[in-house]
Amino acid sequence: MKSEGECKYCKKTFSAIGMPKHLLVCAERDSLNSKGENTIFLIRACTGPFFVYFEVKADSTLEEVDEFLRDLWLDCCGHLSAFKINNMTYYSSCEDAEPGDKTMDYKLSSVVNVGSSFFHEYDFGTTTYLGLKVIQKRNSRLKKIEVIARNNLPDFKCKCGSKAENICPECIWEGNALLCSKCAQNHECGDKDFMLPVVNSPRMGMCGYTGPD
Ligand SMILES: [Zn+2]
Ligand SMILES: [Zn+2]
Ligand SMILES: [Zn+2]
Ligand SMILES: [Zn+2]
Repeated sequence: MKSEGECKYCKKTFSAIGMPKHLLVCAERDSLNSKGENTIFLIRACTGPFFVYFEVKADSTLEEVDEFLRDLWLDCCGHLSAFKINNMTYYSSCEDAEPGDKTMDYKLSSVVNVGSSFFHEYDFGTTTYLGLKVIQKRNSRLKKIEVIARNNLPDFKCKCGSKAENICPECIWEGNALLCSKCAQNHECGDKDFMLPVVNSPRMGMCGYTGPD
């Protein structure tokens, strides 16, 4: 599925594939934001047509990145989550942790570096899986985690060809879950109140997710 987004600095639109190449050479980004005392990482999180590039201080914790991903994309009702980095799992809560399990109380710089690929899982029942990669490391100024680019809402279509606005939470695992408002009225699983909205998040259609608060 076609996916593209806008660079926050130069406001130009790039494809999912073109974006990382662009961000490394974007002159606006470089001139506006290349000096500073913080070591920062540029990180991509993505799954399917959804992607986000964000900058974060290298001494931020995994917990802060987890919180960022929850606020942007994931949080429906506060499920557990975990990062998987180099065969090690870092959990969002130590309540159910086994001896030897790690929590997210680790600085990014102590577990990843430029080029590192790692994973995030949210909700161990109806799981949303994200792949992450550290694209760049540089010095800059940064207060909190900042979104540099993210995908525009993909052009989801109902099987009748109209724009999809609803997603059926029952059909999500079988395909054909995307429905226009007309088809949603005659859908066999339930009426329109039963449907969830199409939102710009990989969590759409799952566990009552209706978008960030
Ligand atoms: Zn740019
Ligand atoms: Zn939930
Ligand atoms: Zn259905
Ligand atoms: Zn339709």
